[in-house]
Amino acid sequence: MTKIYNFSAGPAVLPAAVLERARDEMTDWHGSGMSVMEMSHRGKQFMSIAEQAEATLRELMKIPDNYKVLFLQGGASSQFSMVPVNLLRGAGKADYINTGAWSKKAIAEGKRYCAVNVAASSEAEKFTTIPDPAGWKLDADAAYVHYTPNETIGGVEFHWIPDVGDVPLVADMSSTILSRPIDVSRYAVIYAGAQKNIGPAGLTVVIVRDDLIGQPMDGQPVMFDYATHASTGSMYNTPPTYGWYLAGLVFDRLKQQGGLEAIARINHAKADKLYRAIDASDFYSNPVDPNCRSWMNIPFTLADAELDKTFLEEAAQAGLVTLKGHRSVGGMRASIYNAMPEEGVAALVDFMADFEKRRG
Ligand SMILES: *Cc1c(COP(=O)(O)O)cnc(C)c1O
Repeated sequence: MTKIYNFSAGPAVLPAAVLERARDEMTDWHGSGMSVMEMSHRGKQFMSIAEQAEATLRELMKIPDNYKVLFLQGGASSQFSMVPVNLLRGAGKADYINTGAWSKKAIAEGKRYCAVNVAASSEAEKFTTIPDPAGWKLDADAAYVHYTPNETIGGVEFHWIPDVGDVPLVADMSSTILSRPIDVSRYAVIYAGAQKNIGPAGLTVVIVRDDLIGQPMDGQPVMFDYATHASTGSMYNTPPTYGWYLAGLVFDRLKQQGGLEAIARINHAKADKLYRAIDASDFYSNPVDPNCRSWMNIPFTLADAELDKTFLEEAAQAGLVTLKGHRSVGGMRASIYNAMPEEGVAALVDFMADFEKRRG
């Protein structure tokens, strides 16, 4: 069987070592005689899995003690609502930075709760860059500033943290969390759907500074109040137990690999290899400003779009799957999250060179 490398944007590849460990523990977790899926979330066994996963995540990301880590459901999309519900605290307005499709979704939802000030946008540049922060029209009285550090569809990534003064900074890190070290203390809220860089779909991780918890808007569902989850160890109701367990295995694996500094070096090298291949050819191109190219999601087009279908078919035959670009962008997209091995990127680069030679 050909080795398969899966370039899906999400749900996405998981580390092979994690899947093998989950397989080995599937029907009998540590002599319990049960699968993790069958355990009570309030039992001692699952509690130990949950606590260990959180502890390892805190260690990996160096999360300060005054932050809560929540293991929720509802996806990053629910955070588009939970952020305003919890952070507005009577302010009635918030700043958003618009760098692409996911920013726009967050903005649309934010508008249901407050006056949204789009403080900067790269829409006129077709989301191929990040607006120069010197021109951002931030409002010092905004309840928070929301941005998307990595735009999964456009392949645009911030390689720096915006300076927003004392206004709480909120980041949708769905497709970049754990790809490199970050200074958590610069943020008020970090959230991420798990299915890109953490684990299976169905789990959402929220890291929130504790002074921002407990002042939700009136009349909102109890499940949308961060305090509901922060005060119960994310066990107000049944949490996504199996996803939480698998996330813990992924965190262990990242630690074994040397932590986020080591992971960042590998990610940078993988992305660099693919961008170099694209830039060195006249056949492939990536439209993104080189200063804000994503390490995680790399869209590219062929000089002749008529060849897209053939490219995808031949790539799949070579074991390189899910390379089709997002329907809104077209072309190809290679998502090369933490779990994509360097050999996968090397195989893609080799295939691209060979395809260009034969068909370009
Ligand atoms: C995938 C993605 C989302 C949506 O996540 P869901 O978990 O499906 O709600 C939001 N933001 C970004 C940046 C994403 O990549």
